[in-house]
Amino acid sequence: MKKIIIANWKMNPPSVKEAEIIFKDIALLSKSYKNSQIIICPPFPFLSIGKKNKKIKLGAQNVSSQWEGSFTGEVSPSMLRNFQVEYVIIGHSERRALGETNQIVNKKILNSLKAKLQPILCIGESVRDPEGIYLSFIKHQIEECLSEIPKSQLKNIIIAYEPIWAVGKGAIREATVEEFIEMKIYIKKLVADLYDAKVANSLKIIYGGSVNSFNAESFIKVGNADGLLVGRDSLTPKKFSAIVKIAELYEIN
Ligand code: PEP
Repeated sequence: MKKIIIANWKMNPPSVKEAEIIFKDIALLSKSYKNSQIIICPPFPFLSIGKKNKKIKLGAQNVSSQWEGSFTGEVSPSMLRNFQVEYVIIGHSERRALGETNQIVNKKILNSLKAKLQPILCIGESVRDPEGIYLSFIKHQIEECLSEIPKSQLKNIIIAYEPIWAVGKGAIREATVEEFIEMKIYIKKLVADLYDAKVANSLKIIYGGSVNSFNAESFIKVGNADGLLVGRDSLTPKKFSAIVKIAELYEIN
């Protein structure tokens, strides 16, 4: 199975021209890569830049929790799917900070699956307290976000463990590979309790939070991550393709 390397451009770059250049350069630098699947998630107005590329898949950064109707400013899952978008980031901490609850995230996942979009479900705690309260926070996120999602659909969901303290400009540091491994085991245990061990074992779990070309290898090689979610360094094609190059060396068996 290919490693999944996701570029989350957030609200960047400012113009379509710049977006086209970044996309083109990433496509060029990653042309020969075979063992990794690149998914670029640009802002909505730039989604068309990736439509003609066969190797790079398109993802959206958000989707409505509603199916259709009077929801001004919203973009529905089927609109995205009809626009050749295959993935969607759901529950990113920057959206949760705007008031997105686990219940809204759950609705978005259910409707995205109905539209045949693959959700990239972001989970992660804001602090790692020594008492381990963060583990029950993650448990709630998993239980509530996956509520009523049939077992057969778990293969279509990617879980991105993104501790909030490691994400974006305000990050304290990236997670250690040990912290990622601990969380991966914990998430699989939670999913095994909710569904079964087989489903939990085949669950795709990726890491996100201050990923760069210096730390990517440890998450992929030692942490055996199924992939990486990259924010800041996905806007610089050389930096991003250096991360993909590392993933290329470690195809999942
Ligand atoms: C993100 O946007 O999900 C992210 C992980 O950002 P960064 O790589 O900049 O920490």
